[in-house]
Amino acid sequence: MKETATRIAGFKDSIFGTISKLAREHNAVNLGQGFPDFDGPEWLKDIAYKKMQEGHNQYAPFPGTVSLRQEVSNYYKDFYKLNYDPESHITISVGATEAIYLVITALINPGDEVIVLEPFYDSYVASIKMAGGIPIPVTMHAPDFSIDKNELEKSISSKTKLIILNNPHNPTGKVWSKEELIDVAHLSMKHDLYLMSDEVYEFLLFDGAKHIPTATLEGMYERTITVSSAGKTFGLTGWKIGWICANESITKAVRLVHQYVTFAVSTPIQEAVAEGLKKLPDYLPGFVELYKSKRDFFYKELRELGFDFQIPKGTYFMMVPISKKTNLKDVEFALKLIQERKVATVPPSAFYLKSSEGEKFLRFCFAKKEETLKLAALQLKGL
Ligand code: PMP
Ligand code: GLN
Repeated sequence: MKETATRIAGFKDSIFGTISKLAREHNAVNLGQGFPDFDGPEWLKDIAYKKMQEGHNQYAPFPGTVSLRQEVSNYYKDFYKLNYDPESHITISVGATEAIYLVITALINPGDEVIVLEPFYDSYVASIKMAGGIPIPVTMHAPDFSIDKNELEKSISSKTKLIILNNPHNPTGKVWSKEELIDVAHLSMKHDLYLMSDEVYEFLLFDGAKHIPTATLEGMYERTITVSSAGKTFGLTGWKIGWICANESITKAVRLVHQYVTFAVSTPIQEAVAEGLKKLPDYLPGFVELYKSKRDFFYKELRELGFDFQIPKGTYFMMVPISKKTNLKDVEFALKLIQERKVATVPPSAFYLKSSEGEKFLRFCFAKKEETLKLAALQLKGL
């Protein structure tokens, strides 16, 4: 038999799939893959059902339903004073993961270099490789996961075309400061680079932290491609509705790819998400409070277990240093915890290409019922 394509050579099962499978096999509490183990809002599920009953069941327009693109446009204007035209700037995708693939496929030629700030969401590097591009890692250094401006600039070459930034940041829970964002923005303008800003956790912010979309920074509107999705915001990760906001020519290019990848996204679910976005101002305070209480609860539990780290200001992840607890590296320690303690976490070294810093941490997801978090803490006691 002939071999499979070289563009996927070296690809393995993703760390998320691997950990979820191990968690099932060992009957472990799963604080690995990032998804809530409780359901999303009843009112929104009711709307989705109603949309199906009302007959929104055939193919949607390729760029997304008119109502969802309009509501995406409305919330960017209302929350961030950003103007995106539903017709020429907004495209709906199957979650942010398809969005990332579309943007990279639309922009990157074989041999082009893309800066990825590590630790990174794993689909960035996979999409870059499928496009024939070359990922160039720049490390966000622990403990505050900041980047060194000079290191970033030295990584830029004549072949660099795109920087990928994620804020709020998975897996560290970091919320970038305006100054830090401006440093990256300046370099992208100085070297004429596109910047893809993955903002899927834009509403999961705590302790008064404010989301600053990269596109709002001076000079960045045209060159920023913003990616987000409804999965985290509504606690319905299985709905898989994402979007891309970009200038007209990038939007055209992205849609050319999208029409041959999925061409249309679930119609009734888009219609429901449109209604959900209308209700964001009422919905968000309770949503944030719910996750804040989970974060505070689990942080306290981990501190009591002797883990020492800063409480994250965003996302539903905690990047927890393990060196006080073990001499093992992250992967071995994560396996040990699954087998011996029946608690599954994600070993973050999977999110690094260059640095070995990830070996000193585990990522815990706290988007779980209180009883799940309690059980995990109980099973970790005496570690
Ligand atoms: N970006 C980041 C940083 C993520 O953590 C995730 C995972 N949910 C995604 C993108 C993909 O989101 P979606 O489920 O909408 O594809
Ligand atoms: N975004 C989630 C996480 O980081 C899920 C990702 C996935 O399963 N591909 O865990």
